[in-house]
This record gives sequence, structure tokens and C-alpha cells, in this order.
Amino acid sequence: MCQMCRQNSIEKFEPSRRRILGAAVTTFGLFLASAAGAKEMKPPPKPQNVLSPDASLQRLLKGNARYVEGVALRHDFKHEREALAGGQNPFAAVLSCADSRIAPEYAFDSGRGDLFVCRVAGNFANDDSVASLEYAVAELGTPLILVLGHDSCGAVSATIKSIKDGTTLPGHLPSLVAGIAPAVKAVSQQGGDVLANAIRQNVIDNVAKLRSAGPILSAAVEQGKLKVVGGIYRLRDGRVEMVS
Ligand SMILES: [Zn+2]
Repeated sequence: MCQMCRQNSIEKFEPSRRRILGAAVTTFGLFLASAAGAKEMKPPPKPQNVLSPDASLQRLLKGNARYVEGVALRHDFKHEREALAGGQNPFAAVLSCADSRIAPEYAFDSGRGDLFVCRVAGNFANDDSVASLEYAVAELGTPLILVLGHDSCGAVSATIKSIKDGTTLPGHLPSLVAGIAPAVKAVSQQGGDVLANAIRQNVIDNVAKLRSAGPILSAAVEQGKLKVVGGIYRLRDGRVEMVS
């Protein structure tokens, strides 16, 4: 990178870093504050990832369009490694189902250091994923969170069955049921495809939960630094349909 490009990238990045630093000091304490302060001295590892929330969403959707069409970019992982060894500034965070068919990095045709991905079967926000996303937003400056459901979700399907039959699933599975049950119950009186309705409602509910999750995410949304959106991945063609 030439000196001028480097300076431009610093100038573009610094204002958001300063705002984020303030949030980090108040919310994460001395440890994160000093870590952020150390990073403030250098340009971000991926200057192209310093984006507004809207530009971040457009980049995600363009990446998904390439993936759908089968014209994914060639990702040169080798030459990214050195820059990313010193830090990360992902341009979007994704809360996705753990389903092996989804793979957000592929679905949005992205490279390393681009997406901060939290995955759990049923893509619902629990304390650990909210905390992880708070880290992405407050410490890494990520401007967008996408809650990504998908059709034919086994976790949502199992929750519907568990509630309908009044059965308790074995092992730790009831914790997944507890996370997904509010969306299933919310659509229980609707007609049509119960599974599709519950999958959609689960995305909408978790977008709302993250938007209002205080004190970090809700403040970032209010200040226009963060958008939280929802989408559903279609297994047949790989297209992500935005639902909120
Ligand atoms: Zn799933």
C-alpha cells in the first residue's frame, strides 16, 4: 500500500475508532481499552472493510449474488495472512444456524477477516452470542449484524415437534428448544406452513432482540453506527432473502 492510500485509510478509519474506543472504555474496562488504544496507532488490517452499515449490507448482498451465480471471487488467503495476524476488522457479523449447508463465508463470497460469525443451531441470540456480537461491534467496529435463518431448519422443526407432542428432548437439546420456542409459540395460531412461519418469526424476533440489547448494541443502533437485519438462506439456490 502506498503512503497516500495508507493515510487515506487511516483518516477514514480513525473517527469510528475513536467513538468505539469511548464505548470500550465504559463497557469493557481497562483491558479492552488498552487493547483498542494500542490498535489505534495502526491502520486497520483490511481498509476496504471500513464501511457504513448500508454499504456493508450491499457488499453482503453482492457477495451472495456472486455465490448464487457461481462466479465467486478468487480469495488469495496466502497474502491476507500477514495483515490479519495483527488484528481484524470484519465488515459484518452473522448470527447463523450451525447447519453444515449454510456456511456464511461461502454464502457471501467473503474472505478471512471479513465476517465475524456466531453459529448455533436455530440461530437464536443467547447471552454468549450477544456478548460475542458486542465484542465485534464495540471492539472491532463491525457496522452490521445479520441474523441468518434458513429453510428446512432441523432445530426449529424439532422445537415444533417437542412443543406439539409435549415431550422433552434428550441431553442438552432442551436448551435449544427454550431458545426457539418463543418464535414457534408466536406463530402457533397462524395458518399455512408452520415450519416456514416459525423460521421467519425466529429471525425477526432475534433481530429485535439484538437491536434492543443494552447497553452496547442498542446504543450503537441509536447512534447510527450499527444496523441489525435478518435474512433467510434458501437451500435450493443459495439466495438470501431479506426479511427485516
Ligand atoms: Zn438450522
